Amino acid sequence: MTNILFAASECVPFIKTGGLGDVVGSLPKYFPKDSLEVRVILPLYDFIEDKYRKDMKKAGDFDVDFRGGKAAASVFELLYKGVTYYFIAADGRFGGEAPYEGMPQDIDRFVFFDKALLAALKEVGFRPDIIHCHDWQTGAVPAFVRELKKTDKFYKDMKTIMTIHNLRFQGAWGKDYVKEVTSLPDEYFGDEQFGYYDSGNLLKGGLVYADSITTVSETYAREIMMPFYGEGLDGLLAYRADAVTGIINGIDYNFFDPENDKFIYHNFSAENFRREKVKNKTALQKELGMNSDRKVMMIGIISRLTDQKGMDLITYMMDELCSDSVQIVVLGTGEEKYESMFRHYEWKYNKDVSVNIKYSEELSHKIYAAADAFLMPSLFEPCGLSQMMAMRYGAVPIVRETGGLKDTVQAYNEYEHTGNGFSFANYNAHEMLGTIRYAERVFYDNKRDWNKIVKEAMTRDYSWTSSALKYVKLYESLTA
Ligand code: ADP
Repeated sequence: MTNILFAASECVPFIKTGGLGDVVGSLPKYFPKDSLEVRVILPLYDFIEDKYRKDMKKAGDFDVDFRGGKAAASVFELLYKGVTYYFIAADGRFGGEAPYEGMPQDIDRFVFFDKALLAALKEVGFRPDIIHCHDWQTGAVPAFVRELKKTDKFYKDMKTIMTIHNLRFQGAWGKDYVKEVTSLPDEYFGDEQFGYYDSGNLLKGGLVYADSITTVSETYAREIMMPFYGEGLDGLLAYRADAVTGIINGIDYNFFDPENDKFIYHNFSAENFRREKVKNKTALQKELGMNSDRKVMMIGIISRLTDQKGMDLITYMMDELCSDSVQIVVLGTGEEKYESMFRHYEWKYNKDVSVNIKYSEELSHKIYAAADAFLMPSLFEPCGLSQMMAMRYGAVPIVRETGGLKDTVQAYNEYEHTGNGFSFANYNAHEMLGTIRYAERVFYDNKRDWNKIVKEAMTRDYSWTSSALKYVKLYESLTA
């Protein structure tokens, strides 16, 4: 039996702000139980709901060596849907309304978590062969393990993996600050370690000291070795190229299932979508106060409203797009400028544009189920889960060919009648509009091919089945 510990700052259903939470919450369920014991460790944030807390059992109290002193912490255990979760609690350290509060407090918060989780393992009696770290919040773990190994047998053969879900977020702050918070020796803060000019960079340290590095699609794994996508770490990633693997994320097929989804108005399948899916569109039009029209092409956008997601291209083309015969439904929160841009167009095109500036799991499912197409013109996209969710619900993705979008969306070919979506190559607003209009033409004038695309999108396998096996192979190669 190989023991694996996932260490992360988010995990569905306890905490989610984006795709990271989806991945950490779903992947552990898909590993073979007879050969791998996969457990998950998380911070016990104050906002985690009582319905989960009430079943947690305290497994130990302990001290953490932190910033030159001793800090008290506890570890709790919860068995939830077949997976063992550990939660690190410490008075006042994981408070607030959200997992992230801003810098540099978050450096403090998560370095503490990294130290505490390593100490907690002895309390709970679980000795992982591999600690699988997710994103910068757990970036200090590989270096801490390296230090602990020098004096403590318990950590001796422990391996570490660093998975990059989004290279843009690195957990960097002034070098002296990060040095003080981690209490790691000076040798860890050179330019080839945690040091990055004047800053200390937790993700960078993770990438240097982890035994293996993964990221969430094959294309993104190649892209991040180039300056445009590398966020300043392309040189390091290219240097470690032999240790880098790209493994595409999957989605939770039980939770995202148009045949059984309780959130949507009408369930449907890849067999009956031609008749049944449209009922979701008319019901959503009614709920959102839009023009009722079963024939119009509805385009969905469910996204963090940031430049990463291609919002500048959409801003530039919104007027032209709205002059076509389409309806646009937006669900998202993010930067003020994009929120007000969308609000403006909702006011201008009243009954054909619906803008919902909030976070709602339920409404997201309703939109995936109702929309004919799903727009995601990202500037960069490590993997992207939304396009896979859209496809599962028969909303045809229109995407820019980058990262995981490139690996999951195969462009429609009108001569061979193949493909599961539409795509364009350059980060260019005219190219995006041209591609949307091409999709409109197929939707209105070639329903047969459109339905073929929908069917292809709905029936491709975006579950974890094949990607979980790739992780298993990686774990095997590290423990062999
Ligand atoms: P990222 O992690 O970069 O934000 P992904 O596409 O990997 O992007 O994952 C986004 C996840 O968050 C999807 O599950 C998507 O449905 C969900 N999501 C994004 N914005 C909202 C929102 N406003 N309301 C509900 N779900 C949202």
